[in-house]
Amino acid sequence: MSQQELQNPVDKYPRPPFKKQSQPWPGLASKMDPRPDHGETSYKGSGRLLGRRALITGGDSGMGRAAAIAYAREGADVAINYFPSEEPDAKEVIDLIRAEGRVGVAIPGDLRDEAFCKQLVDRAVKGLGGLDIVVSNAGRQQTRASILDITTEDFDATMKTNIYAPFWIIKAALPHLKPGSVIIGTASEQAYDPSPDLYDYAQTKAATMNYVKSLAKQLAPKGIRVNAVAPGPIWTPLQVSGGATQEKLEKFGGQTPLGRAGQPAELGSIYVQLAAADASYATGQVYGAAGGSGQP
Ligand code: NAD
Ligand code: MG
Repeated sequence: MSQQELQNPVDKYPRPPFKKQSQPWPGLASKMDPRPDHGETSYKGSGRLLGRRALITGGDSGMGRAAAIAYAREGADVAINYFPSEEPDAKEVIDLIRAEGRVGVAIPGDLRDEAFCKQLVDRAVKGLGGLDIVVSNAGRQQTRASILDITTEDFDATMKTNIYAPFWIIKAALPHLKPGSVIIGTASEQAYDPSPDLYDYAQTKAATMNYVKSLAKQLAPKGIRVNAVAPGPIWTPLQVSGGATQEKLEKFGGQTPLGRAGQPAELGSIYVQLAAADASYATGQVYGAAGGSGQP
């Protein structure tokens, strides 16, 4: 064991102002300034998930990447899904998983497509030799000042990505999940405290929180736990590829009591905790990490 240094959460990571920046959707972590920290150099495992097999959507960047790195370092084999244009970010993650001596499976594809969601689960099961952790984390967030600016296509894309895809993926995964398996969703502080410019997105996060609580009750007798992580403002590609206005980006995270944006690395251990067998009494829960704001 090595000494754990006391770290002040206030100045552990960059504080606003951030540079204005924008990327075409869905954006790449590797092109952000500053580059987000997903725990690449900091996360240390202790065998908490040795032998587990995990599928993580949006595993190329942000919270999904932090979970993928942490899971691999805890001994899990990991399949990640991402949008095809995110290949450069995904490749970095697959390399990190394999560097731990774990199996890393890359499955690009569009989650708005039901047939692909079914295929995704099949390919993950084949590639990993089974499945016991499903992290439904991918999400679409596009800022729109007015409800009048949200087209039906926009609204549909947000619903398909954030609500339909988890439904399709969980349905396909369930027959493979044995007692002790877990499902984890990524909700948001937006579920409880929606921003005016995130009319469509925020309601999908309320739906995420809600499906987690419903499924937890439904699947408890089968020994499958279902929980969610509710992040606050976290420095990820989603925010710089249409998720936030340039004004909001500049001040990103500054309104929280900690006074800064969170980094994906600060949530990796929560995804581990919810997946680990010693959290066996936690189901239907929403674990928050929002810098002192938010109400999970
Ligand atoms: P991110 O951009 O790193 O991750 C989102 C991922 O979703 C992308 O990497 C992409 O792979 C995936 N995705 C989106 N649409 C897709 C599609 N049609 N097909 C396949 N993949 C698709 O950003 P993030 O912030 O880490 O987002 C992860 C989750 O965290 C999302 O559910 C988001 O709503 C949630 N969240 C983020 C914040 C924040 O401030 N960043 C706060 C609360 C909740
Ligand atoms: Mg990404």
